Amino acid sequence: MIVWIIIIGGLISISLATYLKFQAAKKTELSPAEEATSGQKSSSSTVLEAVSDGVVILDSKGVIKMINPAACALSGWQQKDAIGIDHRSVFKLSNEKGKPYEDSDNPLSRTLADGKTHRDSNAVLTENGSNKSIVLSMSVSPLFDSEQEINGAIGILRDISQEKQAEKQRAEFISTASHEMRTPVASIEGYLALAMNPKVSSIDDKARSYLVKAHAATQHLGSLFQDLLTSAKVEDGRLTNHPSVVEMSSFLTSLTEDLKFVVKKNIAVEFVVGNNGALIKPQEDTGSIRVVQPIYNIYADPERIREVVTNLFDNAVKYTESGKITIGLTGDNDIVQLYIKDTGKGIPSDDIPHLFQKFYRVDSSDTRTESGTGLGLFITRKIIEMYRGRIWVESKVGQGSTFYINIPRLNNQQAAELSGNSATKTIKPTAQ
Ligand code: ADP
Repeated sequence: MIVWIIIIGGLISISLATYLKFQAAKKTELSPAEEATSGQKSSSSTVLEAVSDGVVILDSKGVIKMINPAACALSGWQQKDAIGIDHRSVFKLSNEKGKPYEDSDNPLSRTLADGKTHRDSNAVLTENGSNKSIVLSMSVSPLFDSEQEINGAIGILRDISQEKQAEKQRAEFISTASHEMRTPVASIEGYLALAMNPKVSSIDDKARSYLVKAHAATQHLGSLFQDLLTSAKVEDGRLTNHPSVVEMSSFLTSLTEDLKFVVKKNIAVEFVVGNNGALIKPQEDTGSIRVVQPIYNIYADPERIREVVTNLFDNAVKYTESGKITIGLTGDNDIVQLYIKDTGKGIPSDDIPHLFQKFYRVDSSDTRTESGTGLGLFITRKIIEMYRGRIWVESKVGQGSTFYINIPRLNNQQAAELSGNSATKTIKPTAQ
């Protein structure tokens, strides 16, 4: 009897459920347009559920509105728990040294703050409830409402721990190998110099001409090892970096004076500040002309900036036969822009996208005769990125090239505070 009651009860509840479903479907009968939109919505949510990359959508306050299963797996949070929570609680990010990300580091916070796309491939994410951490590649884009006001952000997250580990091992190998090889190369170079020195050795002209070539090749090998070592350091974050406030006008004025001496060709060198040289403003009281040099402060290691400018300048000299090299400085409230412009051979447009990659050299008669490693621009880009800057080039074959660098500009207050105690201050220039 009891069994029969259960069976009949079950049948009734099934029919009731079927009926209610039918009624509900009738009530929500959709127009073709609505059907298409809802179809699109459900197919995009199916895609988001299925993709292997983590996807997270935030509202304008940084609260998680949507998080897909892949992002849950990365963070160690359950979907139902993460929704409605601030992203900083769910995605606990820090740098390689374990220092927790501040909002100025966090690409999710940065996009919500400035409405720009931000990328990061060094963020370390600690999984919820465990000590497990992974390296994330993050790309965050802003979302706008119909009035073009920012009303959220979408972040794409990927675990790149394995790639980072392989990269680290490669860099370690290159670093050890180049370090070990630099010493014998330096000693060969030294002995060749002694052999060429008439006060030390007597050799005939033919032997001398061979030794001169061997010496040049050894010097090239030495600089290749040096560049390899620097590029390995730059990749695994071991490059020395002692940032301080650098006022770029005076810094570049004195650097340009030094660089002028290394130019042995018939090339003029000039330094310009502002859009058309120094900004000139008439003085209201006397009507006389006063030269106003803007203050362009950045927060970087002056040695690294010197390396960058010297690198670009050396290239400009190397690939220019005659004409002019201009070192320029300009900017706006947010950025300081420096550029190195030459009147040289120029760079074919097909090569430009690859120029900042490791070992890339334009294949021309010029590069075959000029010694080089193809590492200079790679190292330069890495240094600039370390300061949240950007580097790019504009060039026309036969007319010359201009390499541009944008670095976040410090306002007066930031500069004053950072100058006070650069070691302990946490203020950083706003990122580009
Ligand atoms: P390299 O040691 O070969 O100079 P870089 O990384 O500094 O290596 O430069 C990569 C390539 O970019 C060079 O081989 C050259 O073909 C091209 N290049 C760089 N700067 C200039 C320039 N100012 N004018 C023309 N070509 C340039």
